[in-house]
Amino acid sequence: TDSDTADEAVRATCDDATTCKRFATSKSYWKDPYIQYFARSVGERKAPEINRGYYARVKGVNLLLDAFIKKTDCRCQVINLGAGLDTTFWRLKDENLLPQKLFEVDFPAVVAKKIHYIKTKPPLSKPIIDVHSTDSLLLDAHNLESDRYCIVGADLRDISSLDEKLKKFHLNPELPTVFLSECVLVYMTPSQSSNLVHWAAETFHTAMFIDYEQVNMSDRFGQVMIENLQRRQCTLAGVEACRSLDSQKERFLRTGWEHADALDMMTVYSMLPQEDVARVERLEFLDEKELLQQLLQHYCICWASKDKLSLGLSQLAF
Ligand code: SAM
Repeated sequence: TDSDTADEAVRATCDDATTCKRFATSKSYWKDPYIQYFARSVGERKAPEINRGYYARVKGVNLLLDAFIKKTDCRCQVINLGAGLDTTFWRLKDENLLPQKLFEVDFPAVVAKKIHYIKTKPPLSKPIIDVHSTDSLLLDAHNLESDRYCIVGADLRDISSLDEKLKKFHLNPELPTVFLSECVLVYMTPSQSSNLVHWAAETFHTAMFIDYEQVNMSDRFGQVMIENLQRRQCTLAGVEACRSLDSQKERFLRTGWEHADALDMMTVYSMLPQEDVARVERLEFLDEKELLQQLLQHYCICWASKDKLSLGLSQLAF
């Protein structure tokens, strides 16, 4: 059916993210020794502005994520929604920032693929086994359940089944919890993404939500971005919520979150540690500075929090 084709095109977007990250790390934009196991080859060259865009995305999201984990002294949960082939579990373990438990959710077909990679590559499976204490590790074709890392196959548009599956994997609603969604909500209708962030707010008393995705999509450049995706059968069903930084924040403020902030990626880029930005800018020559600016102005990080335990979550920022 049409909707199967549309979902298949959305699932394929995680391979794009992985090959772009693989390429950028091969050029030393940042370090990720695990991405190689999820993308067989470095693949064709990506334009310098794409590499810098991914750099800003990865650094920006990690900055907020790590700040939350440090605030809670690792006594927290991370839930990565639409995680695709993301390697955050291994990074956090290597940096001694592993939360009590990290959950990932994606479509069952994507999860099956990720689990296959984990099962067949010891550098991926060993760190999971190393932090697992009991003998109950479950690693079948569609689920991974270990003490510190769970991968769950579910459709994020079906909240009751999502809630049920996460509870089955021993999600703890009492523990401070940080959600991540990177280029995920835009594939859902505004009401589906609102339901999801509402569920997140009502399930946890102390939580943060970090969302990275498109913004300022009403202008000419935004239209071109939409058309490029449509050419690949990919509909941005949620583009309405990506009109402006305010509409991004609104989605959270209307659904039970106490505090919300949003910055476009040009601003985030200018707030990243400047020595590292200078290093990155020496890696590849970029003559189209304006193209980079336009690209970064059309993505944003929006983060929201609620803080019953008064951890100071509303102060987390760049
Ligand atoms: N977050 C990852 C990253 O940044 O590398 C992957 C990003 S990829 C562009 C979008 C991911 O969201 C895909 O893996 C896709 O399968 C997942 N996704 C989109 N809609 C979903 C839904 N309704 N249920 C579960 N996963 C979904």
